[in-house]
Amino acid sequence: MSTVLDGFAAADGIAIGKALLIEWGVPEVPHEMVAPEEVEHEVERFHEARTWAKARIARLQESTKERLGPMEARIFEPQMLMLDDPTLVDGALRYVRENRFTAAKAFDIRMLELQAQWTRTAHPMVLDRLNDLEDLQIRLLHRLLGIADPSDVGRLGEEVIVVAKNLSPSLVTQLDLDFVLGIATDFGTRTSHWVILARSLQIPCVVGLGDISRRIELDQEAILDGRIGRVILNPDEQDRVVFRERDSQIQAWEEKIEVIAKMDPVTADGQPITLRANIDLPGEAQHALSHGAQGIGLFRTEFLVVGQTSLPSEEEQYEAYRSIAETFPTGAVIIRTYDLGGDKFPMFLHMPREENPFLGWRAIRVCLDVPELFRTQLRAILRASAHGDVRIMVPLVNDVEEILQVRELLEEEAEGLRRDGIEYNHGTKLGILVETPAAALEAVELSRHCDFFSIGTNDLTQYTLAVDRTNTRLAKLFNPFHPAVVRQLHQVARVARASGIEVSVCGEMAANPLGAFLLLGLDITALSVAWPSLTEIKNVIRQFRIEDARKAAKAAVAASTGKEVMKVLADELGKSVDLSVFAGRWNLSLPEEPQPL
Ligand code: PEP
Ligand code: MG
Repeated sequence: MSTVLDGFAAADGIAIGKALLIEWGVPEVPHEMVAPEEVEHEVERFHEARTWAKARIARLQESTKERLGPMEARIFEPQMLMLDDPTLVDGALRYVRENRFTAAKAFDIRMLELQAQWTRTAHPMVLDRLNDLEDLQIRLLHRLLGIADPSDVGRLGEEVIVVAKNLSPSLVTQLDLDFVLGIATDFGTRTSHWVILARSLQIPCVVGLGDISRRIELDQEAILDGRIGRVILNPDEQDRVVFRERDSQIQAWEEKIEVIAKMDPVTADGQPITLRANIDLPGEAQHALSHGAQGIGLFRTEFLVVGQTSLPSEEEQYEAYRSIAETFPTGAVIIRTYDLGGDKFPMFLHMPREENPFLGWRAIRVCLDVPELFRTQLRAILRASAHGDVRIMVPLVNDVEEILQVRELLEEEAEGLRRDGIEYNHGTKLGILVETPAAALEAVELSRHCDFFSIGTNDLTQYTLAVDRTNTRLAKLFNPFHPAVVRQLHQVARVARASGIEVSVCGEMAANPLGAFLLLGLDITALSVAWPSLTEIKNVIRQFRIEDARKAAKAAVAASTGKEVMKVLADELGKSVDLSVFAGRWNLSLPEEPQPL
């Protein structure tokens, strides 16, 4: 009997294969001793486990390097070094030889000792190494206890659909993507950062499935459809036929839409639009280009450091930013400074545990408090500005003082480059992400100190509605079409127009057909979407008239509920665009949600 589970469509694509549960945690180790004649055997087992772990980490390192680049592959270096560290190895072996503990128990005790010692030092850099220590503990203990390494998604020897309670950006980077067909999780939402990353890596995803991690059984077959947010466990032959057919229909549709990549983003009545791409990793810039992006509207640089145990050097950052700038010799490349905190944590920076991380030490607050981190980034971006129209965008700005402090640091770094005779663009633009109600309400003041605005509707919605963007239970309440959000969009667009600065939108809303229709109707003529959505949204834009969008937007701004906003938009857009193909992926509040593509 097949079981159908519905969650949230998080990343497009269909996956058919076995489901594999991953549970990343330290296993229980039984308190066991061995007979004297077995001691040397335990010593050998310990060395074997180390050799195995090294080979495994090296393989992960290699595939991460290939897919994501050398900087991202550095995440595994500390674990490699620890595997040869005498304090760890000799300490554990002493417990085997002197106390006759099993290799697993000896290693477990040694790890607990090291963890206690390291915690006592309380030095941030040391504390952050605890993550590596724990990763190693999980891997090695699983090996010594004869249990499969939970992150080893290749253990069935075939590609699988990864099932988990939830993931994190750093765990996503640790998965061997050669074996991942798709991801299905109990928790998470479309705007959780690990989901954004998975989308960039083109892994089909369905999130917010409630209890899939408890439901799946060993070797269970599943079908995952990331376009409509559905997972079918134990599919029957009929299900397979339907989904294979859907898969080929989607591929045919995608091939057709490829042609659109080469067309101009212009509305049916001739209004040109600027359409840029959001990227999370430097390697995506090429994809963005081939999908018709006119530039990069948002480069989420924090993915260069999330899960990393050391800060990338100025040179490494410069190379990453420069390569993107060179990919777009004529288009703008907007580099967002580190948006750390919330749900994104690097290991080299000790982020305190907070009750409300999204209301906590995040983004510009972190950067201003850790100037050495920020200055290196500013300097690297400035250097890259010599190679194109590179712009700097600051996240989570709430008031003028923050932007003034950023300007001061930027000028000091520019001065340093001047002194050193290093080239940079002296007119590098500095803008902000408008993503809090405070910034939207302060737009007039902020516009005097900024060269551009980009509206981050993901956070703007979260903070306006007090709805945690990662909370699956609240996902239905996370509505960027809420009148309170729509009116802020309207207000910010008006302010930007009046002060003559560019305003764009780079939140998920820009990739939603109703969202794009509304935003263009509000005279926001620059949009930035994840590169896989570029052609699809351009296809929509080319079918409607800007005049109709303006009319609908006017009605939307006056509407009194989110439903009403969506209805006026859908009614008007539905006259020129077949919206049925988007149902399931986007909540469009259509009168009937027909079976989508
Ligand atoms: C946003 O908040 O809308 C945004 C674009 O930034 P992020 O999703 O990375 O927070
Ligand atoms: Mg944001």
